[in-house]
Amino acid sequence: MTVYQHAALVTVNDNFDVIENGTLAVEGKLITYVGPYKDFENAEIVDCTGKVILPGFINGHSHLPMTLFRGYADDMRLQEWLSDKVMPMEARHTKRSMRNGALLAALELTRSGCTTVNDMYYDGNIIAEALKEAGMSGTVSSCLIGAMPNHEAVLEQAIALAEKYKNDPDIRTAIAPHAEYTATPALLEKWGRAAIETGQPIHIHCSETLTEHEECIGRHGLTPVALFDKLGMTEAPMYLAHCVYLSDEDMEIVKAKNLSVLHNPCSNLKLGSGIARLPKMLEMGLNIALSTDGSASNNTEDMWEEMRIAGLIHKGANRDATAVSANQALYIATRGAARALGYADRGSLEAGMRADFTISTLDVPSMRPLTNITNLIVYSGNSRDIEMTVAGGKVLYDHGEFTKLDKEKIFADCQEYFETLFR
Ligand SMILES: [Zn+2]
Repeated sequence: MTVYQHAALVTVNDNFDVIENGTLAVEGKLITYVGPYKDFENAEIVDCTGKVILPGFINGHSHLPMTLFRGYADDMRLQEWLSDKVMPMEARHTKRSMRNGALLAALELTRSGCTTVNDMYYDGNIIAEALKEAGMSGTVSSCLIGAMPNHEAVLEQAIALAEKYKNDPDIRTAIAPHAEYTATPALLEKWGRAAIETGQPIHIHCSETLTEHEECIGRHGLTPVALFDKLGMTEAPMYLAHCVYLSDEDMEIVKAKNLSVLHNPCSNLKLGSGIARLPKMLEMGLNIALSTDGSASNNTEDMWEEMRIAGLIHKGANRDATAVSANQALYIATRGAARALGYADRGSLEAGMRADFTISTLDVPSMRPLTNITNLIVYSGNSRDIEMTVAGGKVLYDHGEFTKLDKEKIFADCQEYFETLFR
């Protein structure tokens, strides 16, 4: 048993309790005690005086290998960014470079306090292996694009992937049609049926830009969400990435079918896509998971920064300082994201939950004086204050050192891929 003593515990439980001089005990993969200070005998003690423990962040939507494209396709319009830069670079990706990009992302996620990620990329197998190597967990998928001649094979691979990981404690799988605009209705319907038949959720981009949203209405007389509903896809759990342009009727469908919105504020800002109506979605009680999107459009995997931006932009956009509270921003980065992605075993610090959490120092000027800890975390905090990340009870990051991954080798390999494949 490992016992973390004298920490401030930001629990994100039903009452949003913050315990000032708290104790968190871990046995194996699980948290076994969370509460006021309590003595434990025969335990390994970690003194957390002057530190705060948060639940591990859950990143609702990313494309991990896109870390390799970070920094050389910026300040471009989405369509040029995609067709002139990202797609040609993706065509040069190899299995090894994808794996390396995913490992670089895993380093960054671990360093910035994220322990679970929902990913979409060309080969979910590579992502699953990288996550396991990193000690993380998540939902993986192999992206289905109608224009790609191999989409039949990708679907077979996606079904095989689900079979391979069906009893895995750390990896889940999803069926991932890229978006409405990259498939025909017949294909979307077929892929939706495959998800339902194999008991998998659907992970898809949805109403990211106004052009995408309006062109869908032009083609089908329906918004993307209404089309997915008409095609029967909403009978599966659906994880809808972006949702910047959802109509009120779309939101009603999302609510009625218990679908989930993956909110990517930084990516939507950087690509000039717009600002999703998060306050309205929160008011309706929709399932929301905060997300970074891929590193070519963010350009980080830093969920802490994402949380701060989510706490700020909706205030400005709505000229309403109460639009999204600190508690709400923290909730959609942790427990709300768990709910949205169907994880009942994580997202809060409570006995019986998976031991996924981070320890950050409060011994920095930006976190003083110690007033309202949750407000400090969201508006003044920074992932660089994280000293330790624990996932499934295992320490993944500890004061600058990664316990599972070889940082220097991953950095060197990334540089080599940049020089040889993408420059
Ligand atoms: Zn995306």
